[in-house]
Amino acid sequence: MTVRALARVNLAALERNCALLLRSSPRLCAVVKADAYGHGAVQCSRAVMAAGAASLAVATADELRELRAAGLTEPTILVLGALTRAELAQALADGAEVVAWTESFLDWVVGCGGGAVHVKLDTGMGRFGTRDGALADRLVQRIEGTAGLELGGVMTHLATADEPDHRFLEEQLERFAAWVGPLRERRPDLVAHAENSAALLNAGRTRFDMARCGVALYGLDPFGEDPGARGLEPVLELHSWVSALKPCAPGESAGYGRRFLASVPTELAVLPLGYADGVRRALSGKAEALIESTRHPLVGTISMDSLTVDLGLESGVAVGAAAVLIGSAGEQRITAEELARAADTINYEITCALSRRVPREHHRDGEPIAA
Ligand SMILES: *Cc1c(COP(=O)(O)O)cnc(C)c1O
Repeated sequence: MTVRALARVNLAALERNCALLLRSSPRLCAVVKADAYGHGAVQCSRAVMAAGAASLAVATADELRELRAAGLTEPTILVLGALTRAELAQALADGAEVVAWTESFLDWVVGCGGGAVHVKLDTGMGRFGTRDGALADRLVQRIEGTAGLELGGVMTHLATADEPDHRFLEEQLERFAAWVGPLRERRPDLVAHAENSAALLNAGRTRFDMARCGVALYGLDPFGEDPGARGLEPVLELHSWVSALKPCAPGESAGYGRRFLASVPTELAVLPLGYADGVRRALSGKAEALIESTRHPLVGTISMDSLTVDLGLESGVAVGAAAVLIGSAGEQRITAEELARAADTINYEITCALSRRVPREHHRDGEPIAA
């Protein structure tokens, strides 16, 4: 290790995941919000565009600006989130496509000089979008009838695509299809999009014109299971190293609150990363790390900048040994899904939590990326 903590991001795996999804939806909007779910938005955006994605999506105007500033000036980029008027002005100046569900938002778009707009119907997510199909129709008509406004697409978002019971998912898809049908008759070029990763993997084929996928691109399973079972390859690994060893006699403790108290003689490894790096404190005492290709339990409280691992006696581990928090070593593998279960959360949150303090090293199947 040259640094205390490192996220290694395999762009070749990202491209293979992208190719897999393109088999189910020939038109793919790659969702790279939240720094590509912690994987590095600029590098991941370049890779998925080269791999055949039709467009990109981010959540905020600043995320769009970062991509444009890095030279991603060509791709169509949809800003999915709600925008203030100032954010809208910035996003449109940066060539965004934006999402609308009110007349007043369209007024703003016109006031900013126009742009491409996707009209969002709320078919059951209960967040953004309008539940009123007639209003959604009026918005589409106004966009079509206003110089400077362009209809980028029509969309909805699904609430339960990752759940085993598909009834509500089907209801949402039906509601969306019922609205889209007549629009499509009038506009054969319409781009309707609804599916996220879970919905696309569930159905195996898009019902509309485009799918918006994030999590599966990164080789994270939207159902929280083994990504390999669906042919997805995890893209990110989190590495660190054994920076100190601490023999521990019965009665000696480690960490804040003395949550680890040795009952038998043992040895602890101290790794120099913690919750400020994104190793969630909720994982204290609940997860494992791979050291010399062997699983060892995290013990004690995870600190801001360090954590402790119980090696037991005679592990043979020396200071300087490589440690893997997410990823594989030898026969062993720790997935973001495993950590998510331990922290009672979802894999999305595990990789999004990796902070700026952890450098990302992008590579292609182990080969450095040519600058
Ligand atoms: C984040 C997001 C997606 C991508 O969802 P995944 O589950 O990561 O595939 C799609 N659409 C919208 C509106 C989103 O906010």
